[in-house]
Amino acid sequence: MTAQKHRFIPGIYNYCDYWCERCAFTRRCRNFTMGGEMEREARGDHPVEDATNAAFWNGLAEKLRETTVFGPRDQWASDSDDDFDDGPDPEWEAREAAHQESVRQHALCRLAMEYKQQADAWLKSSNADLKAHAQGLLDAARSPFTRDDVEEEARQIGEMIEVVAWYHTFIPPKMSRAVGGLLERDRGDGPAADILRESRLHDANGSGKVTLVAIERSIAAWLRLRDMLPAHESAILNMLAMLDRMRRGIRATLPGAESFRRPGFDGEPVPEEEESNHADV
Ligand code: SF4
Repeated sequence: MTAQKHRFIPGIYNYCDYWCERCAFTRRCRNFTMGGEMEREARGDHPVEDATNAAFWNGLAEKLRETTVFGPRDQWASDSDDDFDDGPDPEWEAREAAHQESVRQHALCRLAMEYKQQADAWLKSSNADLKAHAQGLLDAARSPFTRDDVEEEARQIGEMIEVVAWYHTFIPPKMSRAVGGLLERDRGDGPAADILRESRLHDANGSGKVTLVAIERSIAAWLRLRDMLPAHESAILNMLAMLDRMRRGIRATLPGAESFRRPGFDGEPVPEEEESNHADV
């Protein structure tokens, strides 16, 4: 095996927050290395802004899973392609549609979607108010009597808004993935059923864990915003209440999520061989 291969932490991108710009593991992430290509493909014709919507991340998650489990799609092609019947299987399609609907209707997914819509509305409707606040800070900075660190306050507001904006679109698809894995866990029978069950529960817990991380970070950001923007307290308390309900809901529905150790991020040990080879890269 090459040192390059050992450099990557297997599956680290399965349970991260996709915020590569802020990730400490870019060098050890295969998706980041291949990222440009995969993200462009997953985005299709949508503009860059669409990277903040659920369809983009769902598409990317599927692609990552396919690549991890089966290898790149072009490796599937073979002379025996004609052996596959590509026609739709109505039974399978009906089952899938029913499954997707159960996920959509799950209380946690509906709550996540409600939070996204409300946070989105707040981000849009607060623009004028936030600009007025920014003007207030500028005025304060010009005053010889101002003793507060207004520059730091402006920087923090920007940072907290960025955190809220990133995670409010991230939470619903990850919540759906967690709930989907849980609801799907017991589907199927036969010799592979046990393995599938374990794999689905593992994925549900991992997705639940990263959703919890996103919720915790959003809560911290909203709390800070509440201190800095007291006029928005009522709306912010509403967001905090929804986030707290989601947090408690995940803990109750997926008790294994909180203790799930994500490769890389939660100190999940990386095989020694990989670490020693990594040093040579
Ligand atoms: S692990 Fe880090 S670098 Fe890789 S996709 Fe996730 S956020 Fe990006």
